[in-house]
Amino acid sequence: MIQFWQKRIKIGTLTESIEIDKELETIKKELKNEVAKKFAGSLAIRMVDSGSCNACEAECNALSNPYYDLERLGIYFVASPRHADVMLLSGIMTFNMTPHAIETYKQIPEPKWVITIGDCPAMAAPFEQTYAIKAPAGKHFEIAHHIPGCPPSPKEIIKGLLEFLRKIA
Ligand code: SF4
Repeated sequence: MIQFWQKRIKIGTLTESIEIDKELETIKKELKNEVAKKFAGSLAIRMVDSGSCNACEAECNALSNPYYDLERLGIYFVASPRHADVMLLSGIMTFNMTPHAIETYKQIPEPKWVITIGDCPAMAAPFEQTYAIKAPAGKHFEIAHHIPGCPPSPKEIIKGLLEFLRKIA
């Protein structure tokens, strides 16, 4: 015990105060207001991976951590498409996953929107049509908004969600 306190006094505090990103805080505030105004305070997202490398999903996972804390703004990732307002689509529209993405979309009640995330769903020539790929996603869905990047950072995803909310009536 004495050793512990000796070490503690000698080394001091190692943790750092987090730097508050003022731009992010402003975006989050506006996002919360838009969700309250347009979705009665609760926007449910069903994420569908149509054949990604999982980096886009990893960035989306970070949105639930205490720093970004998307749920505090009223935005939730849900497991069932029947509870969703938005389908967030990542990946390259592989032959195997395309029918499942279409089926998921069908299960979402109206009104519904598709947001694509990452450069994969917007994949253009020459790789968009092979035996294994049925890109771009725009061929299968009406895309309400696209969040570019490979992968987009959590802040870019939050910005993209705000742009989507500003667009819709
Ligand atoms: S856009 Fe980039 S990061 Fe996202 S799934 Fe495709 S390759 Fe991976």
